[in-house]
Amino acid sequence: MNKILLKNGTLILPETTVNKDILIRGETISDIDTDLHSKPGTEVVDCAGKLIFPGILDPHTHMGIPIKDGISADNFETGTRSAIHGGVTTIIDFTILEEDQTLFESVEKRLKLAEYSYSDYSLHCNITRFSKKLFNEIPKLIQSGIISFKVFTTYEEVGIMFTYEQIEEVAKIIAEHRGLLMVHAEDNRIIQNAFKPLISRNLTEPLYHPLSRPDTAEATAVERMVNISIQTGCPIYIVHLSSAKGLKWAQHQEKVFVETCPQYLLLDDRVYHQDDGRMFVTSPPHRKTENIKALWQGIINGNIQTIGTDHCPFLISDKEVGIPFQNIPNGMGGVETLFPVMLAQFIQKGLDLSLLSRLLSTNAAKLFGIYPRKGALIPNADADLVVVDPHKVSTDWFNDLVSVTDWNAFVQFPAIFPEHVFRRGDWLVKNGELSLSSRGIFLAGDALSSHHL
Ligand SMILES: [Zn+2]
Repeated sequence: MNKILLKNGTLILPETTVNKDILIRGETISDIDTDLHSKPGTEVVDCAGKLIFPGILDPHTHMGIPIKDGISADNFETGTRSAIHGGVTTIIDFTILEEDQTLFESVEKRLKLAEYSYSDYSLHCNITRFSKKLFNEIPKLIQSGIISFKVFTTYEEVGIMFTYEQIEEVAKIIAEHRGLLMVHAEDNRIIQNAFKPLISRNLTEPLYHPLSRPDTAEATAVERMVNISIQTGCPIYIVHLSSAKGLKWAQHQEKVFVETCPQYLLLDDRVYHQDDGRMFVTSPPHRKTENIKALWQGIINGNIQTIGTDHCPFLISDKEVGIPFQNIPNGMGGVETLFPVMLAQFIQKGLDLSLLSRLLSTNAAKLFGIYPRKGALIPNADADLVVVDPHKVSTDWFNDLVSVTDWNAFVQFPAIFPEHVFRRGDWLVKNGELSLSSRGIFLAGDALSSHHL
């Protein structure tokens, strides 16, 4: 069994920061203490001056999915190669429900593809068809470790939308079996009312994309979700929240949890005026700059619980110049830069690094029922660790990415990439270099231990 001793590192625990040694034995952390001594056969890594975070958990990725006439650039293998390089040792991806498929079939198909993942992985189950027969599968899915279900309040045109009444119905079932409901919250009617006049006037350049999906659409849908959570007792997780107005409704609700993404914390709607504006077409869109301030305030106040990426990258050639915005494949990459960019931001802003640890690891592990195996630096937890030198800030890192994509939204921001990444004790990044010796495994969520934040 491999034994690795990390000496003298600064551990960024969810509640505090301590200087201690960590002993890894096999796949788990076996001891954390001051002055641990190495026994023969133990490899020792000097971590003096380095920060050690729990493995990063990205609760929102879409690896290799078909969208309109394109396929996103990453599959599970390439996407998680870049994830590991950026310190993401666990991802939670989404199923895709095809016509005539049961929920179980959609999970099985996705699990098969996920076997190529280097990060450990779990799945959220997309429910994109309203059918009582499908809902009958929910209790068994929860028992089998798929405990979170996602619905959409929009995208009526592609037939995946649920009405608010339908969402309430499914929320009741999920609540009864102690699962978690995830919602893409943008009100469809408000979007249609904003979208149609633009199209009829032939205003189809990328800069009109944000006008077609106003923040009031998000706010309205979030308000409805808050009411549904109160009515049904169902915990609801709002994915990729982008606006101050949306946050206002979601905050201070006992059972409503909020995820935002680096792109909404860092980039405003001026990106759509850039030459590569089309590359930023994603939904929800980037917002007016005052939203950025409100979201950071939400981070600091604890009103936002997680930062995920909504990772779904496309190549520059996938988003050709001249495509009307409504036909541009939606999405952008971010899993490789999630931790490096957010860490540099937190240090620059002088924010508490334990807060970052909670936002990027602990809180999602708790919500999705895989804590304390993941998201914790304690004995018996999986040895998922990210070692980083806080002084190694890079401003010119694009060429160091291992991603197969040819574009990144965050190039203008400084980043601090991990020196070492361990995933279940396997040393997958060594001195900044990838060394992918093993694949990830499926993590079953435990509904009974979930959503205790
Ligand atoms: Zn998404």
